[in-house]
Amino acid sequence: MNFVDFLCPSCALFLDFDGTLVDLAPQPEAVVVPKGLVATLEALSQYLGGALALISGRPIEQIDAFMKPLQLPVAGVHGTERRRADGDMTLLSTHPLQAVEQAALALVAQHPQLRVEHKRGSVAVHYRQAPELECLCLRAMEAAVEDSPGLTLLRGKMVVEAKPGGANKGHAIEAFMQEAPFAGRQPVFVGDDFTDEAGFATVQRLQGLGIKVGEGPTVAQQRLASPGALRELLQTAVASKAGKASV
Ligand SMILES: [Mg+2]
Repeated sequence: MNFVDFLCPSCALFLDFDGTLVDLAPQPEAVVVPKGLVATLEALSQYLGGALALISGRPIEQIDAFMKPLQLPVAGVHGTERRRADGDMTLLSTHPLQAVEQAALALVAQHPQLRVEHKRGSVAVHYRQAPELECLCLRAMEAAVEDSPGLTLLRGKMVVEAKPGGANKGHAIEAFMQEAPFAGRQPVFVGDDFTDEAGFATVQRLQGLGIKVGEGPTVAQQRLASPGALRELLQTAVASKAGKASV
């Protein structure tokens, strides 16, 4: 069954942001939110009775800035911070970051093409401008994480990130699924990166649907070619379903 047919008012929809809803950019702040996307998500959220959440590695603050004025339920920093549908925040406990911060700063001091991102409870090193430094970044951050109780290393597209061990997108989706208006619904999760695999496994365990955007190995049952293809499907869903529901 395709995604538009699958999507019904009793579904819960979870969407990754970068590389899924929006195309990746050379730098994280350079992504462009295409015209109409925010309105499409707002209409879909209404159609789903509010059961639409964004599940991102970015801080919630950044997601809100891109989605302005729309404020959806969001899991940020892989679930380290989570804004529920009722607006309340749930924060996972964090762990000392000194070792990983030092390692990241040492890397960027030697290689200015790298970029260090400090988030709540996590430190990410982006090497999109210097892919040849992948092994170096990985080794340095792995060593730092070994000296940092409670942290694990997460690899994403052109990024390596030290984050709290308990934070992952699967756990974030599970937490939403315990709460109104998500509880009791059939979950759908769309993502594009290694970091989304835990989310696919979770929704499929809950009899839902995982959809991978782009190439690469995945446990997701379905696949879409690109963020553009997803946006087109979401628009189609709004036109064929949400539009009718509001008439
Ligand atoms: Mg992504």
